[in-house]
Amino acid sequence: MGTVARMAMNCKPVPTLDERINDIRMRTAEIVNDDIIPNEGRLWAERREGESFHERTAVLELRADIKEKVKKAGLWAPHLPKEYGGMGLDFLAHAYMNEVLAYAIGAASLFGVVAPNSGNQSILVKYGTEEQKQQWLMPLIDGTMESGFSMTEPHNPGSDPRSLDTSAVIDGDHFVINGHKWFTSNGIDADFFIVMCRVTEKDAVDKKSGPMVQIIVPAATKGVNIVRGIGVWGRKESDHCEVKYEDVRVPVANALGRVGEGHQAAQDRLGAGRIFHCMNSIGQMWRAFDLMVERAASREVHGGVLADKQFTQGAIADSYIDIQTARLFTIHAAEKIDQGLQAARTDISAIKVYVPAAYTRVVDRAIQIWGAAGVSNDLPLWGMYQGARTLRIADGPDEVHKILIAKNVLGQYAKGEGWDFGN
Ligand SMILES: Cc1cc2nc3c(=O)[nH]c(=O)nc-3n(C[C@H](O)[C@H](O)[C@H](O)COP(=O)(O)OP(=O)(O)OC[C@H]3O[C@@H](n4cnc5c(N)ncnc54)[C@H](O)[C@@H]3O)c2cc1C
Repeated sequence: MGTVARMAMNCKPVPTLDERINDIRMRTAEIVNDDIIPNEGRLWAERREGESFHERTAVLELRADIKEKVKKAGLWAPHLPKEYGGMGLDFLAHAYMNEVLAYAIGAASLFGVVAPNSGNQSILVKYGTEEQKQQWLMPLIDGTMESGFSMTEPHNPGSDPRSLDTSAVIDGDHFVINGHKWFTSNGIDADFFIVMCRVTEKDAVDKKSGPMVQIIVPAATKGVNIVRGIGVWGRKESDHCEVKYEDVRVPVANALGRVGEGHQAAQDRLGAGRIFHCMNSIGQMWRAFDLMVERAASREVHGGVLADKQFTQGAIADSYIDIQTARLFTIHAAEKIDQGLQAARTDISAIKVYVPAAYTRVVDRAIQIWGAAGVSNDLPLWGMYQGARTLRIADGPDEVHKILIAKNVLGQYAKGEGWDFGN
């Protein structure tokens, strides 16, 4: 990060939390402050032209060392049950841990929780057979395999998943899959995809009927054609892939859960995924805030430090309000998820709208206060800005979530009851 100072995260025990969660937070903060933030520039640097094999290997070794340290500290895979090598945390504890680990850019992957693998792991845990778990889940957890989740189609609105028309026709003991997907993240590295399909008859006229199912498709199967890594935000290529599935044959035993459960499985996956995104956003906002205040306190403009100007004070105060409201709302939703995913659906949608918008505002202000440096590659703010904006679309755009909130609220009033904000 060039000449920019790297402030350590100030994370002290929270008096209202139990010892177990505080201990997890403090140990997470130690790794973030001692091992990740001081190495950020090296850990995530783009592969440089002319970079030697030795230099690249040193980066990969550094990542492996930090992962080993995380595992030794018992902080690996907070989202997974203990029997699968994870921490077995409930959502509330995870939310409190995640806001700390997400303070450092890219740290989630060093703690073993990174989309889309984390979501795929969770549905394999819930819906997978014992054989599927051995073949796909365990290698995904120990990091020897990568995966993608292939649901969105270019010719159908992702906002309305029931419109999808990738077909899976049963032929003996195999599915034959045909469809066109895009924005399948991690598609370049994935060893397998979980593909959302409809089970239909061969030559079906109505392509949009038929029960939904998620099918595990090894990337090396004949007919899995990666068309391109779609360029995003001006970059030539990304790992969000356009994929054509052309007469792809996989055993019927690769169905994840029962035929007809596909939509529900996707909702389970996305429900958890959405709160993970929000937890990550909180840590990143915290970081952007530290950067903003640090700069405001040191930059001299027009005969005084920025911090003395009321415009700057307004930006700091508004950001404080944005972070704390987003944070407490996310913690509230996590607490609710622990009481059942269904009960939390309104709040999950609400934070999915609120948090990325608050994140965008906070990063925007931090960029403004840093001036030109704010958009430079010396600081992580540009990436946060793009990430925050993208989040307003990925995993369901704002409008879809607002519709769901209103539907749940109106449904409650239609039953003759008001909304109970305390529960
Ligand atoms: C970076 C990134 C990564 C992604 N990763 C994955 C992945 O790994 N796997 C995967 O399957 N998908 C992935 N997606 C796709 C994502 O889930 C979809 O983009 C999202 O669901 C929206 O679908 P769409 O792009 O087809 O937009 P559309 O459904 O065409 O919607 C376009 C816009 O219409 C508006 N809109 C929608 N419904 C309404 C309404 N009822 N009223 C008013 N306005 C409305 C919204 O503003 C919306 O943004 C990813 C997307 C991005 C950007």
